[in-house]
Amino acid sequence: MFTINNILRENIKNLVPYSSARDEYQGAASVFLDANENAYGSPLVQQFNRYPDPLQYEVKKRLSEIKGAPPRNIFLGNGSDEAIDILFRSFCNPGTDNVILVPPTYGMYKVSANINDVEARNVPLTDDFQLNLEGIAEAIDKHTKLIFICSPNNPTGNSINRADVETLLANFTGLVIVDEAYINFSRQKTFIQELTEYANLVVLQTLSKAWGLAGLRIGMAFASEEIIEVMNKVKPPYNINEASQQLALQALANIDQVNAWIKETLIQRDNLVLQLKDFDFVLDIYPSDANFILVKTSDPRGIYNFLVEKGIIVRDRSKVDLCVGCLRITVGTPDENKKLIQTLQDFK
Ligand SMILES: *Cc1c(COP(=O)(O)O)cnc(C)c1O
Repeated sequence: MFTINNILRENIKNLVPYSSARDEYQGAASVFLDANENAYGSPLVQQFNRYPDPLQYEVKKRLSEIKGAPPRNIFLGNGSDEAIDILFRSFCNPGTDNVILVPPTYGMYKVSANINDVEARNVPLTDDFQLNLEGIAEAIDKHTKLIFICSPNNPTGNSINRADVETLLANFTGLVIVDEAYINFSRQKTFIQELTEYANLVVLQTLSKAWGLAGLRIGMAFASEEIIEVMNKVKPPYNINEASQQLALQALANIDQVNAWIKETLIQRDNLVLQLKDFDFVLDIYPSDANFILVKTSDPRGIYNFLVEKGIIVRDRSKVDLCVGCLRITVGTPDENKKLIQTLQDFK
């Protein structure tokens, strides 16, 4: 059975969090002399002289309408990368605990593990890029705190079988983190609605991909209230700046624009697949539930360098386990995709 106290680090259990001026007094007032801000203003048209809301309530309220989870089940991070790091710092004791990774997958889990001096146990995906449940069961021991599952997976593009993730959720006594950075492009439904079912589930999403806001740095974690409370305690007090909060709120009003882009991206993705298939040097294109495709080629380095010369940058993933020969190509605008295909016609 999962209980948060069994996996929480002792120092975090006992942590007295920083209490900011905005935590200690949250109501309205006409004169704020409690936070040593510059009362005169900012040397800008827009004013940023006041500290931002540490718990980003307005953004979460809007997100909760879109995502169907109450604000108390939402954590906001400076990108999902901050949420990943905070999970390590809250639950993994450096030097003793370990986590399970299922490569090939998003590189940040391993980097975060290394920074926090937490052992990353690799259980590679199967040849069809699905979970090796037996291997995962064998790798788990009493020091295993987290399992990271990316679905749709980066860099392979496929979704992970839902029943397999549920098997982990039902049997693992640590946290199962389902990273849904690409969920908006997927036919699969989100795991957010399973939060009421599984106390050990954390779902990560981001405004960096479909929402077109990679530069604002806003990532989301959805989890039980007690997990969110821990993450809020561990995060830096003002981790989402005021400009990002205001701009995110404006962007979240434009959901129709985002949905139109998603639709267009999927059409463009299918077109790209059809056109790439015709090249002799393309050996395989893996099914994608995301806004990129993984393409197996006969000469990944040659194609990569040729494209760089022509000013087109793709991602060389050919050195990654199970991705021999592969390039990862993000779906661009119709013009960009056309330029890619036309350029590849000159590759010999
Ligand atoms: C791009 C990506 C993210 C997003 O990270 P941010 O820090 O929110 O920009 C998270 N997870 C995966 C798997 C990604 O590919």
